[in-house]
Amino acid sequence: LLQAAPSAAGPGGSAARLAADGGRASVEDLRAAIERRELRLVFQPQVDCASGALAGFEALVRWQHPRHGLLLPEQFVPLAEAHGLIDALTEQVTEQALAWFAATFGAAPARAAGEEAPSLAMNLSARTLEDESFVERILARCEAHGVAPARLILELTETSAMEDPVKSLDVLTRLRMKGFQLSIDDFGTGFSSMLQLVRLPFSEIKVDKSFVMTAGRSEESRTVVKSIVELGHSLGLRSIAEGVEDAATLGYLRGIGCDLAQGYHIARPMPGEAVADWLARRSP
Ligand code: C2E
Ligand code: CA
Ligand code: CA
Ligand code: CA
Repeated sequence: LLQAAPSAAGPGGSAARLAADGGRASVEDLRAAIERRELRLVFQPQVDCASGALAGFEALVRWQHPRHGLLLPEQFVPLAEAHGLIDALTEQVTEQALAWFAATFGAAPARAAGEEAPSLAMNLSARTLEDESFVERILARCEAHGVAPARLILELTETSAMEDPVKSLDVLTRLRMKGFQLSIDDFGTGFSSMLQLVRLPFSEIKVDKSFVMTAGRSEESRTVVKSIVELGHSLGLRSIAEGVEDAATLGYLRGIGCDLAQGYHIARPMPGEAVADWLARRSP
């Protein structure tokens, strides 16, 4: 998708290069976009299933491409992973997310007394776990922005955490010891061994949206969702369902004791500047 169709390539430099040079040029395009800090974040709320209270936000990356328009992560994160750009991408996402979070909830949080500060979830690539300096660098960024590591939830997909469980265990344990929360994303789509799962120091299990989105019409999906929530609880993990698209699904999740929910029914991912409005609109 990053490869411009000849018709889409306007006159001039980079578009022509994109069209002529295919995949290779699109990597250069991404590299330049990262350097020019053209990646943007949107934030999607996560709420408590039972009370509806705000629990936190997940940061999701976007690329506003000058010619191809708004690109979704599927259209460029794999490219970054394949071409050694993922560390730079992660750095930029982390920096922007922490800056937004500190500015929005840092100094004078507009919260009811007794309500906990929201959390900030971010997605990590499996490659990040191979980077020895990652733990120290994210810690330094948290300190620079005055955000406690305990407010952060680092999401790893089930498959990425299991790629090299021994190596993962080392980095994940170090992150846990610094106070970061760890979430297993897209749970149910991989086939991890329960034993390995128990050994990795996760705090949260995130039910993949493919099951949650179909829970309303599929008994099978409901069984999967319920089993994952129960598995999580029996392992002492908080459970969260993503892809909650209607009230009935939220009601179902509440009924089975799922802790948190995220999805279009609650809110679509939104730019950081829109969050204050969203917060103001939902609390009377
Ligand atoms: P994910 O972590 O599973 O994120 C959830 C995806 O589901 C997001 O797509 C979100 O916009 C979408 N979504 C949320 N609620 C609903 C809903 O109710 N219905 C439906 N149909 N979809 C919903 P998005 O933003 O396109 O992100 C796709 C994937 O890209 C993410 O999946 C994550 O794996 C990856 N990603 C996003 N941001 C980053 C990042 O900063 N770094 C890395 N490494 N990966 C990222
Ligand atoms: Ca995620
Ligand atoms: Ca997911
Ligand atoms: Ca996913």
